[in-house]
Amino acid sequence: MSKNKRKILLLPGDGIGPEVVREVKKIIEWFNKNKSLDFSFEEELIGGASIDANQIPITDEVFYKSLDSDAVILGACGGPKWDNLEFSKKPERALLKLRKELKLFANLRPAICFKQLVDSSTLKPEIVSGLDIMIVRELTGGIYFGEPRGIEPIENNERRGVNTHSYTTSEIQRIARVAFDLAKKRKNKVTSCEKSNVMEAGVLWREEVQKLKEKDFKKIELNHMLADNCAMQLLRNPKQFDVILADNLFGDMLSDEAAMLTGSLGLLPSASLGAKDKNGKIRSLYEPVHGSAPDIAGKNIANPIATILSLSMALRYSLDLDKEANLLDEAVQKVLDDGLRTKDIISAGKKEVTTADMGDAIISKLK
Ligand code: NAD
Repeated sequence: MSKNKRKILLLPGDGIGPEVVREVKKIIEWFNKNKSLDFSFEEELIGGASIDANQIPITDEVFYKSLDSDAVILGACGGPKWDNLEFSKKPERALLKLRKELKLFANLRPAICFKQLVDSSTLKPEIVSGLDIMIVRELTGGIYFGEPRGIEPIENNERRGVNTHSYTTSEIQRIARVAFDLAKKRKNKVTSCEKSNVMEAGVLWREEVQKLKEKDFKKIELNHMLADNCAMQLLRNPKQFDVILADNLFGDMLSDEAAMLTGSLGLLPSASLGAKDKNGKIRSLYEPVHGSAPDIAGKNIANPIATILSLSMALRYSLDLDKEANLLDEAVQKVLDDGLRTKDIISAGKKEVTTADMGDAIISKLK
């Protein structure tokens, strides 16, 4: 198979999912036609759309197609129509199944503050302008999955809630390796966060990350930081960071905090990466950070940039097409430079455009 013959699976899902994924599809078609790339892509149902058609949030056929793809790009799952279903039948179960079965242990969330949109942030422009951080969060271990867990009755009519925070050497080094590899493509700097002052699991995290750095990543600058300090530093001086590495719990919080530095949900992409399979292919799922936004669905006003930047991450991390990823990132910048804005990021003096117009404008800048 040639480098350029890659399979992309598009899962638009619910709400604004189909509207924003439609713009991604247009861009893939543009790359096929104009850059001699030969992506084959298919589109399938997931979430509520799949429940409506097949009574289940993801069929086996779609699940196996996702296993067989080089990259899966998802819009969003869920919405009020399916809110009353029992938990195990909800649209969001499809997403949890994909994350679990594809063994997606690394969640990558860039927090980039476009200079053109610096006023959308609640922080001062000089603090966030030009911000470019990558948060690497461990996704399949730690306190969200550790055993024992549960709620149990104890004496005096009281109850106790228990969760267990646990990480092994290989789990820590596997995610640290992802952070170090990413830093090599960026500014060679990793800040690893834990709570080694109060948690043994934090001491192990710090030691294992340090060991891996000394063994395989001597040229990377590694700093260790307590997670609560990192939360403060993100607000005080976020531009000190390049790659932030954290476990599942701290990464969950730090990535949401970093995301909000940038202003709008409609701009934030994400990637979840798994282990390499026996053919060397990395399982991966790319999706915007936002949900299905039922309040604006079907109106052609959703911002497609988060999903388009998710495609750019897929080009970079799964398809080995850095040049095309850069081209797409630059096209987004140019459109913002031109003052085009969807409704969620509109400000005085800028031109409001629809979802489809924004996609077309980005394509025009690829040329
Ligand atoms: P949401 O992210 O869908 O929307 C929050 C707010 O941000 C809304 O006002 C929405 O209009 C706005 N918004 C979101 N994306 C936007 C975009 N691209 N352009 C313009 N505005 C945008 O979160 P929610 O309202 O809490 O959840 C709605 C549904 O989405 C729920 O069913 C939830 O379970 C689901 N959800 C799915 C995912 C996912 O599929 N990964 C993630 C989060 C929420």
